[in-house]
Parts: sequence; structure tokens; C-alpha cells
Amino acid sequence: MDLPIETEALVIGAGPVGLFQVFQLGLQGIHCHVVDALPHVGGQCAELYAGKPIYDIPGIPFCTGQELVDRLQQQISPFKPTLHLGQQVSQIERQADQRLAVTTDSGQRFLTSTLFIAAGVGAFVPRRMVLDGLSAFEGTQVFAEHPAPERWAGLHLVVAGDGDAALQTCLNACQGPQAAASVTLLHRRDQFSAAPESVEKMRQACSEGRMRFVAGQPTRLRTEQGQLQALELLNPQGETEWLNLDVLQTCLGLSPKLGPVAQWGLAMERKQLVVNTENFATSEAGIFAVGDINTYPGKKKLILCGFHEATLAAFGAVSLLRPAEKTLLQYTTTSTLLQQRLGIA
Ligand code: FAD
Repeated sequence: MDLPIETEALVIGAGPVGLFQVFQLGLQGIHCHVVDALPHVGGQCAELYAGKPIYDIPGIPFCTGQELVDRLQQQISPFKPTLHLGQQVSQIERQADQRLAVTTDSGQRFLTSTLFIAAGVGAFVPRRMVLDGLSAFEGTQVFAEHPAPERWAGLHLVVAGDGDAALQTCLNACQGPQAAASVTLLHRRDQFSAAPESVEKMRQACSEGRMRFVAGQPTRLRTEQGQLQALELLNPQGETEWLNLDVLQTCLGLSPKLGPVAQWGLAMERKQLVVNTENFATSEAGIFAVGDINTYPGKKKLILCGFHEATLAAFGAVSLLRPAEKTLLQYTTTSTLLQQRLGIA
């Protein structure tokens, strides 16, 4: 087994608050690693409202969710955090030397002196199709994680979903060197949440015979010799039909799962981590909670509140990591030290 990564600070969650936590730790001279279940940074801003406007970020009268994420990435770049994306933190254990052993579902291990939980409303994980027996084929013939053409090259592919991701997966799968033998889009009715341009392209591909669309609700599956063969569908006319397949890729969107955060033994209230407002420490020494995941009297789930929390949590961490040092307040405008850390001076 690989040796764990040893670090002074680990941030769980690369949403806006987790990213700003990196910045504040950087100003304090603390390098950190960041883990997120999503394959990209930005949390809710990138996942739920990338193209929608935000009007209440101080000093930025207007930006989209994605623009805010881009600016935060630019702001943290001097501190070169190490990102571990597409991995969900599953376990936290206190070691005899008081450090925290943190493990992800991909088996990556960290030994960290301080931990910052910026897990928002939970880890964004793909919604699964609920059908008796289907989970047995997860990872071999059924995939909910991000689409990958090598799964279906030369095979009969069914893509379930009605959003942009589902339609784009179909369009990609019917062309190129790793094209599927056939591509079928499956959704319960002939109406889609995808952008009109994507729907137009999908209909065009169907009319050219490159793919097809089937409306229906899966009701059971047929297997043969341990292989998934077909899904039985109840179509909008109330009739049943069988849809043969080799591979099923579901693109049913993401849902946040609080999951492991709730099992780490930290004091919680209504599914949120209880913190003190002096430094946003949780009930466990060295573990801080910032952003939407925490609760305290007067808590508001706003990005700017999370930014304040991350700032005080970084001061809290520095007094734990460097107890002999005085944690002086310095200004980025005038402090040579902070400017050196920012790579300016
Ligand atoms: P999140 O953005 O939720 O990020 C948390 C990250 O942690 C996620 O990426 C998740 O995958 C990851 N994670 C969780 N658990 C794990 C785990 N175990 N392992 C690995 N990764 C994990 N706020 C404003 O201030 N102004 C607005 O205008 C505004 N508009 C909004 C509009 C919409 C539609 C929505 C839904 C929210 C809006 N908000 C707004 C709220 C704002 O988006 C949240 O307050 C903010 O995203 C919280 O940031 P966060 O970093 O705490 O958490």
C-alpha cells in the first residue's frame, strides 16, 4: 500500500468556501491538500448554478457561479494547493500522535495535523437508477459515474437521462473511433430538461439514424449467464417492451449526500456540524468546519459568511500548528511577508 500523504492541513470540499480556505491558509504560510468528490472544483456554484448570476459577493457587483469559481482559483494559485478530485473522503481516525488519518474511497490516505471540513450540503454523487438487481452490474455493465467511451466502444449502449449530459453522451457515443455499435437514449417521456440546442442535435442524430430515442420507464431486467441482457420498459402508452443492451450509462444528475460526514463522531445539530464562532473549530481538536456544513447561532448559508468563517479558522489552525508564534494580524496591502507568500514581493 502507498505511504499516506503527510500534510499540515487538509480541506474536504472544493466549493467556494473550501477554495477560500486554501487562500487563508496560504496567507498563514500553510500549504494544504484539497479533496472533492466532484471531478472539478466549485461545489454548488459550479454544479448547480454555473451560468446563473450572483449579486452579493463583496466588491463584485455581478458574476456567474462559474466566474466566481474561476476568480477563486486564480486567487489561490500562488499557494499551489494539491487537488485530489473525484474522490470522496470516507473515513477519519485520530492517530496516537494526535494527527488525523483521512482516507478516500479511492484508497488515498492522508495524515494531517489540521482538517477543514468545507463539505457544504454533502458530497455530490451521481443519482443511481433504482431497479431490482441492477446494482449487481455496477462497474461492469452499468455506470453512473462520468461517461467514458472505452466502456461502450463497439457495444450496444443505452443512455438513461434527459439532461445535457445524457444527450451529449449519446451524441459523442455515435461517432469517432470508440463509437458504440448502437446508441439509444432512454427517458420516461419525449420531453427533455437539456438545452434546446442539445435536444435539436439529438433529434437530428435520430433522424439520420445515428441513434434512437425510446420513451419508457424501466420496470425489471433480464439477465442470462450472469450478464445483463435487457431492460423491460413500461412505455407512455402503458405497454411493456424489452430494450436490449450491453452497457447502461445513467446520466440522472447529481445529488448531495451528507454520508460520511455524519459518521465521523463530531457534534452535530440537524445534520450540521456544531462549531464555536471564535475559530470555527468543531467538537474535535484540530477539526474545523466552514461554509454550509456548519451551524452556530445566527448561521446564514451565504458564501460571504463562509469566507469570514474560513478566515478565522485559518487563524485557529495557525495557533495550533505554531503555538510558539504570535498570530499577528497583517494586511496584504502593507505586509512584506504576506506579499512574499502571495508571490508579489
Ligand atoms: P459547497 O458549495 O456545497 O461545496 C462543498 C463541496 O464539498 C462539494 O463540491 C462536495 O462535492 C464536497 N464534498 C462534500 N462531502 C465530501 C466528502 N465526504 N468528500 C469529498 N468531497 C466532499 N449564496 C450566496 O451567498 N449568494 C447567492 O447568490 C447564492 N445563490 C445560490 C443559488 C443556488 C441555486 C444555490 C443552490 C445556492 C446559492 N447560494 C448562494 C448558496 C451558496 O452556493 C452556498 O452557500 C455555497 O456554495 C456554500 O459553499 P461551500 O463551499 O460551503 O459548500
